[in-house]
Amino acid sequence: MTDQLRERRTTTDPSETGQAFDGSGGRKPVRVSAEGLTPSEAVNVFFDEAAGLIGLEADMYPVLKSSYREVSVQVPVRRHDGTLLVVEGYRVQHNGARGPYKGGIRYHPHADINEVRALASLMTWKTALMDVPFGGAKGGIKVDPHQLTEEERQTMTRRFTNAIGHVLGPYRDIPAPDMNTNAQTMAWVMDAYSGRVGYTPAAVTGKPVELGGAPGREQATGRGCIYVLVAACERWGIDLSELRVAIQGFGNVGSWAADELANLGVKVVAVSDVNGAIHRADGLNISRTLELVRNGRSVIEQEQVDRISNDELLTIDCDVLIPAALGEVITTDNAGDLQCQILVEAANHPVTPGGNVILGQRGIRVLPDILANGGGVTGSYFEWAMNIQQFTWPEERFNEELRNKMIDAFNATAAFAERHDCSMRTAAFALGIQRVATASRMRGYI
Ligand code: NAD
Repeated sequence: MTDQLRERRTTTDPSETGQAFDGSGGRKPVRVSAEGLTPSEAVNVFFDEAAGLIGLEADMYPVLKSSYREVSVQVPVRRHDGTLLVVEGYRVQHNGARGPYKGGIRYHPHADINEVRALASLMTWKTALMDVPFGGAKGGIKVDPHQLTEEERQTMTRRFTNAIGHVLGPYRDIPAPDMNTNAQTMAWVMDAYSGRVGYTPAAVTGKPVELGGAPGREQATGRGCIYVLVAACERWGIDLSELRVAIQGFGNVGSWAADELANLGVKVVAVSDVNGAIHRADGLNISRTLELVRNGRSVIEQEQVDRISNDELLTIDCDVLIPAALGEVITTDNAGDLQCQILVEAANHPVTPGGNVILGQRGIRVLPDILANGGGVTGSYFEWAMNIQQFTWPEERFNEELRNKMIDAFNATAAFAERHDCSMRTAAFALGIQRVATASRMRGYI
């Protein structure tokens, strides 16, 4: 056996990184919540409720509740110590009736085909609700990227892009950042894709500004959440300046939401990251927390604050709770203990169906994920349109257009909810489903 062959047969112990390629193409048993539902079954509970309300025709259900295409690929990565790590990557294209598929790529040990399928369907309803000309997609790699070096992450990203490149493209499917991916990741995706077909900045959004990214896109999801919260306070007669806010997750979305709140003079009383949470009833010094995190440190390193757990943050005394990290963190176990009056779903799918029922019974107002975090994909739409036309808006214009789109989507959702006496989540899904069903019918899908 040559040295090279011997090396190739040495694989990294999967327990080190918490994932392994098992060759099942994602068909192995998937994670289910305590309520016994997979993420895609849980999202479809919300779908069914809204589809029932609008009287969706029976033939449309199987078309809209399943994906158009699901790609599952092997991604081998030669690690710096010579061992081979083989992980699994996914791209799910849910529905493309209204435009090219659009959605982020996440790197996480819990990413699996079912979670990606659920998130892809949410993107379909979100792009329709936000009224941007895209369908819905999502991608993921089942990996803990924190266990990899920067070079290994780059190799993995390029391999993954090459493996799914045949289903990508500026008029086919356009990735963006999500959990544990960022502008740098998107630069690698763009470069790998452009290597196949020639320079194509519009093939991906959330790029660095220096490579055709839009000034304001990085901040757009977090800012967009707060634009919606401000609009909600105006419509519901709530004094914004009196609010105390808790945010779970201080990555791209959570940190920019906190920054926007601080700019508005709103008190942020608790924030967290994967290492834990911090609390200060009088309000945290957000610029100090931002500085820590921008320097690669953790929020828990902040001084003169109380340390609490991520679970405690969710039930802390506050007026507004913003989950901005993982999905399914609010369940039947803790929904009864939440103290907020408004829940802003910055994260995707943070509430299980059972948790959602309890929030409804308790009268907690929910700004659902497909509305609240729709600023990300709306900003991506601006970036994509700019790339195609080769011009760039200044950040002020970007923010103004984003604010208008967020307010329009909020007002449409709130008006629907008032008209039909339903929750904001059901209203948001109903509006999205109606638009996608109309386009699917016109295109002859059924
Ligand atoms: P990110 O990777 O930039 O940040 C994630 C944050 O969550 C980090 O602070 C991390 O430490 C924290 N975190 C990770 N695991 C945690 C845990 N177990 N408990 C508590 N905190 C934990 O990701 P992001 O881009 O900010 O995405 C956050 C959420 O927002 C995700 O649900 C994502 O799908 C959603 N989202 C993101 C965008 C976007 O534009 N980036 C758009 C729409 C929705």
